[in-house]
Amino acid sequence: MRCLVCGTDMKYYFEKKGFKIVKCPRCLLMAVENFPADLSLYYTEGYFTGDARLDGYMDYDFDKEVTKKTYINFLKDIGGFLSGKARRSVFEVGCATGFFLKLANDHGWQAEGIDISAYAVKKAIEKGAIASVNTLENYHASKKFDAIVMQDVIEHVKDPVSLLNKSRELLNDNGVIAITTPDSGSLWARVWGKYWHAFVPPQHLYYFNSRNLKSLLQKSGFEVVYSKHHGKWFTIPYIMRLFYSWTGLNFFLKLANFSSKTFLKKISLPLNVYDTTYMIAKKYEQQ
Ligand SMILES: [Zn+2]
Repeated sequence: MRCLVCGTDMKYYFEKKGFKIVKCPRCLLMAVENFPADLSLYYTEGYFTGDARLDGYMDYDFDKEVTKKTYINFLKDIGGFLSGKARRSVFEVGCATGFFLKLANDHGWQAEGIDISAYAVKKAIEKGAIASVNTLENYHASKKFDAIVMQDVIEHVKDPVSLLNKSRELLNDNGVIAITTPDSGSLWARVWGKYWHAFVPPQHLYYFNSRNLKSLLQKSGFEVVYSKHHGKWFTIPYIMRLFYSWTGLNFFLKLANFSSKTFLKKISLPLNVYDTTYMIAKKYEQQ
């Protein structure tokens, strides 16, 4: 398998749950070599509601509620690069149950999104969001957008290059793309090595670091204008589930399920380990 960022032959790194993870010796991009053809099987209802086999969320909307402030700042950051527009439009790839779309609407944006999960899109529509079941490669847009947002998405797709190319087509001139993804070059990731919590094949197929993500964006016609790391707030059940996925001990799974039914569900901790990279990149001016 060749590295999609620099073209170097990737080398075997390790295996998890029957999936081979390979690593580029030059730019350190990591990827799952033998990913399944149909990924939609991994994004059923259980992914959003705590099915431990699917390595997803304990309760997506609840987990997101605690990150509302982060999302509002996210919108402000993006808006800062779109000066002079009264009503701005945003397209979210991987909109899940519509939490961000709804928030963007409430803050005066025209928001629209797609997701691979029929369950999630149904929930998004129930919230009043404009959303449809689709992948970006099959999406036929009737208009262009000022911003495209992909939160924890690029690591899930089979072809990040075409994802970025298609995003570029979908953007207005001077439009921006905002991406978050786990950073495999972060101190936290390097300390944990193969036990880093973001190694969840086949949901996560690519593991970027800030540098190779930036290179890929540049290759795809984007100039990175903003880059930082941010942390997240995690609920207790989510943290227990992480422990389960790290250790494989059923004890933690029981704690996760138990705590999600009690007041513990409402307690969240700022587990800011700075292992999420967050970039905003601007579409190059047409030559
Ligand atoms: Zn590479």
